[in-house]
Amino acid sequence: MEILDGKAVAASLAQEMLTEVKALTAKGLRAPKLVAVMVGDNPASKAYVTSKAKKCAELGFGSEVLRFEESISEEELLAEIARLNADDTVDGFIVQLPLPKHIDERKVTQAIDPQKDVDGFHPVNLGLMMLGLDCYFPATPYGIVRILQHYEIPTKGKHCVVLGRSHIVGLPVANMLVQKAYPGDCTVTICHSRTQNLAEVLQQADILIVAMGVPEFVKGDMVKEGAVVIDVGINRVEDANAKRGYVLKGDVAYEEVAPKSSWITPVPGGVGPMTIISLMYNTLKARRRQL
Ligand code: NDP
Repeated sequence: MEILDGKAVAASLAQEMLTEVKALTAKGLRAPKLVAVMVGDNPASKAYVTSKAKKCAELGFGSEVLRFEESISEEELLAEIARLNADDTVDGFIVQLPLPKHIDERKVTQAIDPQKDVDGFHPVNLGLMMLGLDCYFPATPYGIVRILQHYEIPTKGKHCVVLGRSHIVGLPVANMLVQKAYPGDCTVTICHSRTQNLAEVLQQADILIVAMGVPEFVKGDMVKEGAVVIDVGINRVEDANAKRGYVLKGDVAYEEVAPKSSWITPVPGGVGPMTIISLMYNTLKARRRQL
């Protein structure tokens, strides 16, 4: 078994980006700028936004976090998005999900200018992706594809099973891996909560991608010997002995599954760092486009 080390791959991609940013600023050009919009004070969202701002600083990007009270109206938030769309000093921005119930997430996502949609959630970007055209890929699926690419994992003709059909992970990663490309050319099966004989389907996977949000759901006996396993799950599991009162667990029971797999992503240190670096990459791409 070998580790798909997202932390290390992300660090090397970060180095490449830092070099490009330094070259830009040496020419007197502005560095890329990412803005994160956060509504309310969900602890997980806070942690994500903080780590994105930290990564911006490391890469020499400009960044800003706009925090709004939970009580902000949909109209006020949409006005803020219109302002960011029009601001030429902002290359890309994200609205951290989830949003409070009184705000329609779809409306908000669709209000973002597709040229600044560095999360890649806008229907225009998802449509372009589906057609294999230039777009901002959603950050997590892009991170998964890049880690497969980095380790030169063969994908052509492989059976890839994706567990989870969310718009931000499961569906787009399935789409990317079925494309005529490398990484891609897979035969893809998508599973979800209505899938029958789930364990039998998972056992057929040469490449298994799990994005469901249930800690350690995938057990050793659900995985084929030699499978490549990508664990997207990030779940906070209470643990009185842990300093923060919780530990992070993936959707895969690592101890059981790792010995059976040929390659596996750890949690933390697998898909998480690749997601953040892909968001940064999209922001740099937005800056390049603007130039
Ligand atoms: P969603 O909750 O949006 O989707 C979960 C999917 O899993 C759904 O399609 C659901 O099926 C399916 N599912 C849930 N329970 C079962 C079950 N018992 N059997 C079969 N299918 C099931 O989750 P996300 O895609 O947003 O996130 C998934 C996980 O990945 C979470 O832990 C999240 O924190 C993590 N994540 C990690 C990221 C990273 O950077 N590493 C980025 C984004 C997410 P149905 O559609 O039928 O309800």
